[in-house]
Amino acid sequence: MSRCAYCKKQGADKKTAIRLWGKDRLKTKELDYCSDVCKQNIHYFAEFHNKYAPRFTVFVLVWLFLFLAIPFTLKAMTGNPIYVTVGSPAMMVLMGAVLIRFPIGLSTTKWAERLGIKYTNLYFRLTGVLLLFAGINLIWETLVK
Ligand SMILES: [Zn+2]
Repeated sequence: MSRCAYCKKQGADKKTAIRLWGKDRLKTKELDYCSDVCKQNIHYFAEFHNKYAPRFTVFVLVWLFLFLAIPFTLKAMTGNPIYVTVGSPAMMVLMGAVLIRFPIGLSTTKWAERLGIKYTNLYFRLTGVLLLFAGINLIWETLVK
């Protein structure tokens, strides 16, 4: 019995072929699915993954840059520590929002294979929500004190 690649339900008896980016090239994979909705979601996932996965390292670097360089540069330029104490959490909020909108877990398919695409997305969205609230909380505490 195979499980649906999207929702992990048992008894997925149909197969669909997708091209998925792995390491440095596209590979064809056959995935099981249970319903047309799941099939559509699997293809959407592949499309999204292939669009972003090859550039994932760049995204991480850009994030690190935004996260560290901008607040610290502004602090160094102005001498005002508020840019670090508020700037970094603000980036956290932004990152959370991005995770909710585009679950970056899509950059690795290992999670998706183990948990199913649906739960992987859910997991990264929850992480995004946590980041968002943690960031807001940090900003709040800084500004209130
Ligand atoms: Zn399914």
